[in-house]
Amino acid sequence: MAGSTPEIERDPEAMRGRILAARREGRRVGFVPTMGSLHAGHASLASRARESCDDVAVSIFVNPTQFGPREDYDRYPRNLEADCELLARHGVRWVFAPAVEAVYPPGNATRIVVDGPARRFEGELRPGHFAGVATVVCRLFQAVPADVAYFGAKDWQQTLVVRRMVHDLGLPIGILVCPTVRDPDGLAMSSRNAYLSPAERQRAVALAESLAQAERLWSQGRSVAEIEPAMRTALAARDVSCDYAAVVDPESLEPLVDPHGPAIALVAGRIGTTRLIDNRELPSRTTVG
Ligand code: AMP
Repeated sequence: MAGSTPEIERDPEAMRGRILAARREGRRVGFVPTMGSLHAGHASLASRARESCDDVAVSIFVNPTQFGPREDYDRYPRNLEADCELLARHGVRWVFAPAVEAVYPPGNATRIVVDGPARRFEGELRPGHFAGVATVVCRLFQAVPADVAYFGAKDWQQTLVVRRMVHDLGLPIGILVCPTVRDPDGLAMSSRNAYLSPAERQRAVALAESLAQAERLWSQGRSVAEIEPAMRTALAARDVSCDYAAVVDPESLEPLVDPHGPAIALVAGRIGTTRLIDNRELPSRTTVG
């Protein structure tokens, strides 16, 4: 799909003015927050937004506050020009690409801390990560006061944290979660896949294999106590070190109360210096054990 180059806006107030003007004209506006280095997963969110909205804004902002001190903020890939070309093909009207100081004014001292779904997994292993996510998403929603924002199921825990925050603070925006886009071998697309050497890229399929194994055992009626070690074995088979491999309640991320589900299988693994996450929804089942 050909399209004109999106307008790049760097100023939050000016961005807000454009969005509100469009909405005053009766246009429905969709918003896709990203950290750039866009791939087909991001493109699917933009297309989905384009289908149900008149105008689409995509933010491209590598958010420093969601990276830990030893994480990959400095080396995170940045390709604004290529990103804009991709977004032009998906009919995106605006790219919001603010400077760090525009999002975090000098002397800023405010963070939004979400508990509940932010507590375990990524929240435990990456202290401060979800406070960074919640704070930036809230800031982005101010600059882009859209009707609806689109997020990927790939970052399942993030979608729960954002939905919790939007509900708790009464933010006037809808949240829509879209399916994970995968490479043909099952690896979830991620900007971080660019870090992988060809040999590491082959090993990275272990995350999808671990989730496929979880789904197989789940549908056979096996218990969580059987499934989680099998997930870890699938990671180890390709020498991927396991940060966590778990089957939990898909909303609270706490242990299952009903062993019939529904559930979510979550996995995080490290391949060399690259850390990847993935998940798979496990539907309700009729038999267990
Ligand atoms: P990021 O740029 O990694 O912060 O991601 C921006 C948005 O794209 C988030 O809502 C992600 O969940 C979503 N996303 C990332 N990878 C994928 C994927 N493979 N499929 C669908 N959505 C994705």
